Amino acid sequence: AAFASLSDRLTATFRNLRTKGKLTPADVDGTVREIRRALLDADVALEVVKQFTGTVRERALGDEVNKALNPAQQVVQIVNEELIGVLGGQQRRLEFAKQPPTVIMLAGLQGAGKTTLAGKLAKHLKKEGHTPLLVASDLQRPNAVTQLQVVGEQAGVPVWAPEPGNGVGDPVRVARDGVAEAKRKQFDTVIVDTAGRLGIDAELMKQASDIRKAVDPDEVLFVIDAMIGQDAVTTARAFQEGVDFTGVVLSKLDGDARGGAALSVASVTGRPIMFASTGENLDDFEPFYPDRMASRILDLGDILSLIEQAQEAFDEEEARKVAEKFATDSFTLDDFLKQMQQLKNMGSIKGMLSMLPGARGMREQLDNFDEKEITRTEAIIQSMTLQERHQPKLLNGSRRLRIAKGSGTTVTEVNSLMQRFEQASKMMKTVAKGGMPQVPGMGPV
Ligand code: GDP
Repeated sequence: AAFASLSDRLTATFRNLRTKGKLTPADVDGTVREIRRALLDADVALEVVKQFTGTVRERALGDEVNKALNPAQQVVQIVNEELIGVLGGQQRRLEFAKQPPTVIMLAGLQGAGKTTLAGKLAKHLKKEGHTPLLVASDLQRPNAVTQLQVVGEQAGVPVWAPEPGNGVGDPVRVARDGVAEAKRKQFDTVIVDTAGRLGIDAELMKQASDIRKAVDPDEVLFVIDAMIGQDAVTTARAFQEGVDFTGVVLSKLDGDARGGAALSVASVTGRPIMFASTGENLDDFEPFYPDRMASRILDLGDILSLIEQAQEAFDEEEARKVAEKFATDSFTLDDFLKQMQQLKNMGSIKGMLSMLPGARGMREQLDNFDEKEITRTEAIIQSMTLQERHQPKLLNGSRRLRIAKGSGTTVTEVNSLMQRFEQASKMMKTVAKGGMPQVPGMGPV
């Protein structure tokens, strides 16, 4: 699928990052270099790559990463945000005219997928309760009109076409008449298919521009084949100058495209990608969501919501205090309990872990993970007196028996908890001396 290799490359880059605690400028530079190569290999235009990596680098070296609890995650989040930006930011929906019919004109090179898209869009609009009319203004390609009639029939949407045998048709007149017909018959949307050539030429641009002037469309959608590679930018710029458009449709995203066109066009033209076409079938069509596409490319699964939850549950000040306590050996069972409760705030831990992209490989650990254990641990600590929590040395046999009874557990469980607490304190003390502790229970992502 599109973006597969870009996605592989970027996730590999982040996998290298996630083993690091603090990031040095060299780490950031290395990461940015890998991102740059991955984007260029995916056919993203050089100017877009430069700007993208420049911004990522600047932000990754800045305070938001420096001060982050988990710098690697923060870098992933920055790349994600910037990627959403490059893809156009917010999702943009079709704008409908206050006074119907809404006129939508399609433009693009021959073979870009305009006629197919006309059918897809018609079907989509019909499903949403609109009453579209298709208009066949592509009189260049020999069977374009017939093709539009076929997709119109498949979509169950009527087609306005020039009378057969009426000499050489005038595409501008067909478009104008089609819109007039829609007004007369009260269709609420009109989709005007136009001609494309194999390359950009002046005549094609003039024709498209004349149609635009004649029908004054509410939306002009520039359809571009995602497989077109580095030519995407030149083509998009030519259409922007020659006709101008309000939105972009990426077609053939189902192919083995490297996806560069998608990542270049919105940012170079400043026009949003509004739809994606993903197959020859009329149903292979979807509104384009920059954020969803970005997380698909970064293969983040739900990692960002995971990061958010983690950020909510652990505020950084608290984390610093805990680290301080570890370092000075003053971490008590009470602090342990607090940490435990924060973990529970994060909801089902198993569910959270399974949101991680690498979770499949962790299946065994996940299955061995027992959430009830946290509840039992909690009960044990809560059965201790404050004094005991601060001075675990007080916990002799009879006290341990009392605690076990009070918490509905066994002395063995109490002993095992104390052992784990000691081990954890020792380990965390070492970690704390080297920097920030990992979020408990949550390895680095
Ligand atoms: P037009 O010249 O711009 O009107 O392009 P067409 O709509 O005729 O499409 C050109 C070819 O691409 C046709 O064979 C379509 O079936 C095919 N096509 C269009 N959109 C897609 C798509 O999203 N995925 C795939 N795989 N093929 C598509």
